[in-house]
Amino acid sequence: VIDYPPAIRRLIQAFRQLPSVGPRSAERFALHLLGTDPHAAETLGQTILETRKAVRPCRACGFFAESELCPICENPQRDSTLACIVAHPAEVLAIEKSGAFRGRYFVLGGLLSPLDGVGPEELRLDRCFAELESRGVTEVILGLGADVGGETTGLYLAGEIKKRGWTVTRLATGIAVGGDLEFVDSVTLGRAITDRKSL
Ligand SMILES: [Zn+2]
Repeated sequence: VIDYPPAIRRLIQAFRQLPSVGPRSAERFALHLLGTDPHAAETLGQTILETRKAVRPCRACGFFAESELCPICENPQRDSTLACIVAHPAEVLAIEKSGAFRGRYFVLGGLLSPLDGVGPEELRLDRCFAELESRGVTEVILGLGADVGGETTGLYLAGEIKKRGWTVTRLATGIAVGGDLEFVDSVTLGRAITDRKSL
């Protein structure tokens, strides 16, 4: 049986590692790049490398940054005493679009999942609390979504936040049951922030 040459098979394999890309799509991407003008492939390759080099996590909050701090942490107008903890960088953008939040963020980079061996140490939560302490935080909003991971993580964080004497609130219920914050519309999310509940 004749198959594609090894180089093409490697390219198909590389595309298959991307989320939601099945074997058929991966094959289509690879053949497309081979069929188009060579500069298109070069530009795509360069853009990937340059993006990886240019973007890093913000030193303070973990959101995407092209220098030490992200534009949100650099903005002196943002209220440093108010923090919103989210799981992933994309959720920062969802909340920003709602326009209802003037504080700063902390991006955990995941959620607690004891069954998968992800505990407070793996998530490096000590780093999270050291950062919030250094900002002089007085209120922390949990922006974690309502699925099992979000609930588990929220429960743990709420305990730790209360221990430090800070107010802890969560987004008003009625949003994102079992879903991602990322996909909630701006108006609903804005209302969930304004109507946040004390824990
Ligand atoms: Zn930041």
